[in-house]
Amino acid sequence: SLQDKLNKAIRTLKGKDRISDINVAATTKEVRRALVDADVNFKVAKEITDKIKDKALDQKILIAVEPGQMFVKIVHEELTALMGGQAEAINIKGDPAVILIAGLQGSGKTTFSGKLAYMLKRQGRQVLLAACDIYRPAAIDQLKVLGEQIGVEVYSEPDSRDAVAIAQNAVAHAKKSGKKIVIVDTAGRLAVDEVMMKEVENIKSSIKPSEILFVVDSMTGQDAVNTAKTFNERLNFDGVVLTKLDGDARGGAALSIRQIVEKPIKYISTGEKMEALDSFYPDRMASRILGMGDVLSLVERAQQAFDEDEAKRINAKMRANKFDFNDFLGQLQQIKKMGNVKDLLGMIPGMGSAMKDMEIDNDSFKPIEAIIHSMTPKERENPDVIDGSRKKRIAGGSGTSLQQVNNLLKQFDEMRKMMKKMNTMEKMGKLKVK
Ligand code: GDP
Repeated sequence: SLQDKLNKAIRTLKGKDRISDINVAATTKEVRRALVDADVNFKVAKEITDKIKDKALDQKILIAVEPGQMFVKIVHEELTALMGGQAEAINIKGDPAVILIAGLQGSGKTTFSGKLAYMLKRQGRQVLLAACDIYRPAAIDQLKVLGEQIGVEVYSEPDSRDAVAIAQNAVAHAKKSGKKIVIVDTAGRLAVDEVMMKEVENIKSSIKPSEILFVVDSMTGQDAVNTAKTFNERLNFDGVVLTKLDGDARGGAALSIRQIVEKPIKYISTGEKMEALDSFYPDRMASRILGMGDVLSLVERAQQAFDEDEAKRINAKMRANKFDFNDFLGQLQQIKKMGNVKDLLGMIPGMGSAMKDMEIDNDSFKPIEAIIHSMTPKERENPDVIDGSRKKRIAGGSGTSLQQVNNLLKQFDEMRKMMKKMNTMEKMGKLKVK
C-alpha cells in the first residue's frame, strides 16, 4: 500500500543524522515510485516529489530536528496542499436546496445518497430523497430500504420513464411538504455513456441544483480520475465523493483527482453502514496516507455516536462498582453504532498497517452479545450468581462453548476489579479523573 511504501521510503532517512542531497534524492525517488504505484498520475507524482525535494534541501540548515521526522512533515504538508488544503462544505441554497448525485453504476451513489441524507437529518434538517433511476427498479427499492432505515422520506415514481419529470416532481413535492433539502439520486451506467450523460445534464438544467456531487469508487484507481474528468466536462460538478476507502483502496485517486479536475473532494465513504461517512479533511487524509492515523475523524465519529447522558450514567455506575452486563451490552452497541470496528481501529495511529491482515469485524462481538442475551436479568445485574450449571445453560442458549462463557466472565470480572481499583485510587487522591 501507499502507506507502507512511504513508510519504508521514509525509514531509509531515519537514523541518518542529516538531510543530504544524496539521501533526499533517493528518498524522493522512492516516494515518487510509491505514489505512482498507488495510482497517482505520473505527472502529479513528479510535481509533488520535485516540490518535496526542493523543500527538504532548503531546510538543510534545520537539521537539529530528526531528518526523518522533518521529511515526513514536508511530505505531509505537500500531500495536504495537493488535496486542497482546507475541508470544503457543500452548498445548501434554495427552497428547497437541491443536491444532485451523479456517477457510474456501482460507485456507491445510492448508498452515499442515504448517508448524506442521514448526516443532514442528524443536523436537524428536513430532507427528501428522490429516486431518479428509471432503468433499474432495484435501485428505487434500495433507496426506499435505506430511507426507511434512516427515517427519511423517499420520493419515487416506479412507473415513470422520465427521469427529468421525476426530479422536478420531487422538488415540487419537497416544497409542498416543507422539506428543505432534496437529494436526487440519478441512474448510472457501467461506463460513461452518452444517453446517461445527456439525462443527467437535463436533470441538472431543469432542477438547478446548488450542489452537484460526483461519486467515485476509490478502488478503480486511475480509471477514477478519467471518469471524474469526463463527468466534470459535462456537468461541471462542485465536489467529489470518494467511496470504499475502507477496503484496499489506494490513496492515489484522492491525490490525483483534486489535481487533475481541480474540484475538491468533499466526503469520503468508508463502509456500507449509514454512519460510515466523513467530511474530507486534506490534512487528515495526508496523515492517514502517511500512517499517522486519523485520530480526529475517530474522535468526531465517537462524539456523534456517544450519548452524553448515557456516558454520565455509566460513569456513575462504574464509580459505585455497579457496572453490570446490561451496561456492558449498551457500550458494545454504542461502539457498533460508530461503524465498522476495523475502520475505527484503522484510524488509530500505527494501527492501520498492523491490522491490515487481521480478520476483525463487527461479527467479533456476536458471541459476546449472544452470551449476554442468554443471561437472565438477575445474572446480568449480578454476575456473581452465575455458577457451573448456569454457565452450562448460558453456553447452550447462546450457541457458544463453556470456555467462551468462562472467558467472558473472567474478562468482565477483571474489568470490574480494574474499575474498583481506579475508584479506590481516586478516593485516595492518587488519580484525578474529571
Ligand atoms: P450505485 O449503483 O452507484 O447506486 O452504488 P450502490 O450505492 O448500490 O453501491 C454499490 C455497492 O457498493 C453496494 O454493495 C454498496 O453496499 C457498496 N458500497 C457503497 N459504498 C461503500 C463503501 O464506502 N464501502 C464499502 N465497503 N462498500 C460500499
